[in-house]
Amino acid sequence: MTEKTLPLSPAALEKLAERFPTPFHLYDERAILANVRRLKAAFSWCPGFREYFAVKATPNPHLMTILKREGLGTDCSSMAELVLSERTGITGESIMFTSNDTPAEEFVKAKQLGAVINLDDISHIPFLERAAGLPDLVCFRYNPGPLKGGNAIIGTPEQAKYGFTRPQLFEGYRTLMEKGVRRFGLHTMVASNELDPQYFIDTAELLFDLVNELHDQLGITFEFVNMGGGIGIPYRPEQDAVDLERVSAGVKAAYEKKILGRGLPPLKIYLECGRMITGPYGYLVARVRHIKQTYKNYAGLDACMANLMRPALYGAYHHISVPAKMDLPRDTMYDVTGSLCENNDKFAIDRMLPKLEPGDLIVIHDAGAHGHAMGFQYNGKLRSAELLLRENGEVVQIRRAETLDDYFATLDFDLKV
Ligand SMILES: *Cc1c(COP(=O)(O)O)cnc(C)c1O
Repeated sequence: MTEKTLPLSPAALEKLAERFPTPFHLYDERAILANVRRLKAAFSWCPGFREYFAVKATPNPHLMTILKREGLGTDCSSMAELVLSERTGITGESIMFTSNDTPAEEFVKAKQLGAVINLDDISHIPFLERAAGLPDLVCFRYNPGPLKGGNAIIGTPEQAKYGFTRPQLFEGYRTLMEKGVRRFGLHTMVASNELDPQYFIDTAELLFDLVNELHDQLGITFEFVNMGGGIGIPYRPEQDAVDLERVSAGVKAAYEKKILGRGLPPLKIYLECGRMITGPYGYLVARVRHIKQTYKNYAGLDACMANLMRPALYGAYHHISVPAKMDLPRDTMYDVTGSLCENNDKFAIDRMLPKLEPGDLIVIHDAGAHGHAMGFQYNGKLRSAELLLRENGEVVQIRRAETLDDYFATLDFDLKV
């Protein structure tokens, strides 16, 4: 069970919504920091442990700055994310560049920044060499194919477009060694939003076994294994958060047995989680605009799927609270909709909520990762502001809402056609 709490009292939220027009995303700095510190503490047994925050989850430089202060790096997979890192003062091996179908200019940029380059395919070895030259340190992304089950969001590894096959890994590392590369990493990521702690322990074991095999066959000493992201969060109140201490204990036991126990030198462990870092600590705050009663009850919000795509995209559950009505019974069933001309623009279907009226403030939980970031402008819907609730209780706007001028910025209305 996970209690779905509000970041501020109902009265304080109402005041905030008077200052900043809804909809907006609100991130809770104190909760983000507490969570990051817990993750770091769980893995403090591992020298060099590092989390590289997956920028795509919440690509805001101000959030990235907070995470940087905690010692996190960034995981990037596009030019924009590399530049965001650079402009946030995150460079060198504090950047993990885990891309796929990568354009040459992104390899050039990653190499310039001194990022750890994590290759998605064996053909990218000569491609990178031609584009930017090979760096000292190279990592490969492994796709275990039938050797490991995937999960619903990312699909089965065999159907996933990512990574090297097992034979390609051996061939690829051999090629790198022949070309003079001296520092190596190994990466895999085959799950997304996974809640079973054992899944991550199994992933660590799989990587440690491979490190052994590659060491025995090629004489490679790895600097790190990167277990990827994918630690899930309890979107539903009846779900439990991943027990990080249990994951850590399982990984530690495997590390002691399969790395230290076999006489291999210490190996750093990296993660590149996005969702579990900020997801539960971000809220989409909106207001009920219209109540409509036809064949069903509809609560139409001033937010739409441009602000949070996950329910429409995956049928994902996001918990909904009505701050002013927390003590009232959830006795009325609604589809909670946005204004986009798409019938799947619904934050919830058949959801029991307190009886709603226009003007009610609504809080949609767990919108702190893959929330604002995924938004689009289809149907001329604009993306909302992002606000940060500081540790001291102040609220700072860390991204303004888009305007029509932003939307039209790529058009030249004076062009004669
Ligand atoms: C999306 C992604 C992540 C982060 O995934 P989460 O589910 O947010 O933890 C990490 N690494 C890569 C390569 C990704 O594509």
